[in-house]
Amino acid sequence: MSAGRVVVVGSANVDLVVDVPRHPAGGETILGGDLRRTPGGKGANQAVAAARAGGADTTFVGALGRDESAGLLLASLDGAGVRTDVVERVDAPSGTALITVSPDGENTIVVAPGANSRVRVGAAQAKRIAAADVVLAQLEIPIGTVLAAARARRAGALFVLNAAPSRDLTDELWEQLDVLVVNEHEAADLVGGPSGGGGAASSGTATPEALATALLERVPAVVVTLGAQGSLVARRAAPSVRVPAAKVTAVDTTGAGDTYCGVLAAALARTVECWTFAPQTGVERAKSQHSTELVDAARVAGAAGALAVTRAGAQDAVPDADAVAALAEELEETS
Ligand code: ADP
Repeated sequence: MSAGRVVVVGSANVDLVVDVPRHPAGGETILGGDLRRTPGGKGANQAVAAARAGGADTTFVGALGRDESAGLLLASLDGAGVRTDVVERVDAPSGTALITVSPDGENTIVVAPGANSRVRVGAAQAKRIAAADVVLAQLEIPIGTVLAAARARRAGALFVLNAAPSRDLTDELWEQLDVLVVNEHEAADLVGGPSGGGGAASSGTATPEALATALLERVPAVVVTLGAQGSLVARRAAPSVRVPAAKVTAVDTTGAGDTYCGVLAAALARTVECWTFAPQTGVERAKSQHSTELVDAARVAGAAGALAVTRAGAQDAVPDADAVAALAEELEETS
């Protein structure tokens, strides 16, 4: 089976993290611990996961500044085996997240998007996207760029959107989606938002199944991630499937969702030829009868997500492909 080609279009941020005894009030100065600088950003995290944990031939489409942070971010991507040749360098600071962490584990985060607001799909990026089996994007870059990336894919390639952080999607973007990946909060935001399905499922008490059913009105397949509860895979005209999580000791949940998305995309890229497509008829384009591929991919992604929470950091916590495969096999045997 070939490795499958994945293009991840998204953000790269350097995370500047300081442990604080408590979060400062407005106007207050407090002393924290030593500064940690670690590579992050949803797009770069997911690219590292697709390559290292998912074993896919992975390209990152993003933008970096001409600063020291860019070097750190490129080194992490390169180290995971991600292709970075179409990453653009722009006249803006590389994306930066300022993070304070209190002893109870609560974070405050301020993101300065910088170069991430300049990510675009030019000729070189479009060419690489057109050769991909799966195109994966998130919402930390301009929504017009996400749409351009989806439109640049070849017929038969899958467009997977991790709709995080929560933002309203345009009708044009909804129409492009083959697989939507969201956690419960993001699912509720999409269902309740102006462009969502609304109705009973938009209330705060809706089950993941109800949320997924509402979202299936607009996308052919939905994956809802449920933290330690695993994930839910829902497709049109097929019963939804709960994929249980592996039991692990959580150390740091940062990056679990990104690891999950990257590995899901990598697993789907290996089976993309199994997906059958109807002629381009809007939201009905991808058929829902793609049997077990999405469930199998969710199982592997869940194993990777579980391993990621056993280690600190975002990209640093991404496990290698052998460990993921071993845990996924174990999960399959016990399910
Ligand atoms: P997000 O961080 O985006 O909210 P989740 O917390 O749902 O994402 O995590 C993504 C996936 O990682 C989950 O669907 C699950 O498979 C796995 N995962 C996350 N936390 C745990 C955990 N504590 N134990 C086992 N698996 C986990």
